Formats: sequence, structure tokens, C-alpha cells
Amino acid sequence: MDYKLALHKMITEQTDEVQYYLKTEQALIHVNELIDKTITVAFHSYQCCGCGKDKKIFAQGFCYACFMASPQAGDWIMKPELSTAHLDIEDRDLNYEKAVQLKPHIVYLALSSEIKVGVTRKTQIPTRWIDQGASEATVLLETPNRYLAGVAEVALKDYVADKTSWKKMLKNDVDPVDLLAKREEMIPHLPKEVQDYIVTDVTKYTIKYPVKKYPTKIKSTKLANNDSITGKIIGIKGQYLLFEDGTVFNVRSHEGYVVTLAF
Ligand SMILES: [Zn+2]
Repeated sequence: MDYKLALHKMITEQTDEVQYYLKTEQALIHVNELIDKTITVAFHSYQCCGCGKDKKIFAQGFCYACFMASPQAGDWIMKPELSTAHLDIEDRDLNYEKAVQLKPHIVYLALSSEIKVGVTRKTQIPTRWIDQGASEATVLLETPNRYLAGVAEVALKDYVADKTSWKKMLKNDVDPVDLLAKREEMIPHLPKEVQDYIVTDVTKYTIKYPVKKYPTKIKSTKLANNDSITGKIIGIKGQYLLFEDGTVFNVRSHEGYVVTLAF
């Protein structure tokens, strides 16, 4: 089969094992079915997620101009504590920022390699955890806006990581830790202004990925350095395709790339 598509992060569905899909204009490719198959992903062109033009992608699927101007690439995306829509203060587009920031947000602990703290919109659960390759996760807070979630995250960064070691995550090198015990441990460290939003329902979510065999050595490959990438898929975790030779391909970091996919 041969498809041409603009890459976006894979669509996921949580069943007993995560199901992954890639959307093309004509079809929905069930990526799980490509496990054990040899695929080739080849660069075709760019399609900026902002302006749609064939301009080199700078970051987060955007060309440089869009990355600097789009409300979807403001600093508050990566740093929720910089959110200001609750104060009626605009960053790039107040209407957009209100629509996103003034929604229920979740502060969670997730275990992908070590325990990390993170923030996401409530509607992004469990998508966010799957995208990060977390094997376990638990909700700590549900706040009415992004700012308060960011304040809590900043406070907890002194006690837990806020980044994933993606290589350890892909090798399934996961620290043996008790997530719910860590959750209890974090509660006294939460600032006063968010204490009212602690979630009382303490649940540990577990996520399983379709991986036949975890690689022991990881080598990342990018279309920025290769015209095409060929390999036999042995698994999918987070937003990564894992190939038999230890090469990994981060689908999400190729947003805005138009490719041909053959298998
Ligand atoms: Zn653009």
C-alpha cells in the first residue's frame, strides 16, 4: 500500500492495549496492524499547521513565522503558569486563550521512566498520558483554569521531574515506584491556593502499549536528516514507532511534514 499524508500525532484509543491510527485524506491507517511489517516513510514536502504553506517546519508543526505568531504556540502552552486569560490579559489572541485556558485542567503524576508531574486539559485524559508513553498515571488536582494547574506544577517540580527521559521510556526502563504513595507525599507540597482542588477519587490508571520487544539501544531518526526511513516495526509507544534495529521515529516531532508511507 502507498499513502501520502500530512503527519500529525497519531490518534489513539485506549483498549486493553493502545490502538494507534494515522489519518490520510482517503483512509484511516491502523498502525498496530503494521507491527511486524517493513515500512518506508519518505519526505515529500512541508505543510505548516498554521498557514498550510510548504515552508520548513520550525517547531510544533509550525513554520518560523507561525511559531512566533500563532496563539497555539504561545509560551503558556509549555509553561502553564504563564497563562493570563483568567486576568483578561492577552498573550497573542485573548479569545483563543480564554477558550483553552479557562477550562478544567488536570495536574497529574505519570510514570513513564521515573515519576513526573504534568498539566493537561481535562478532555486530554488519557490521550496526554498515552502520548508521553506513561505506563501508570494518577490525577492529583482538577483546577478551573490552566494558570492554577501551572502554579501547582511549578511547586511540585521541586520534588518530582517534569520531563520524561524518552530513551528510558522507549526501553521500558521504568523505576519501580509506588505512584499512589508518591501522590500522598506530594499533597502537603501543594500551594494553598490550589488545595481546594485536590481530587478525592484516588485511582491508578495503567496503560499497555503494543510492543513486541523493547529495544536495548535507542537511536532516533529524523526526516530532517534523511530523505526516507525504512524499517520493520516491532512496536509503538508514546508517539514513537520502534523499529527492529533500535531506530525510533517520533511521529509527533514530524507534524507538518508531508510524507509518503509505503508498506
Ligand atoms: Zn506557517
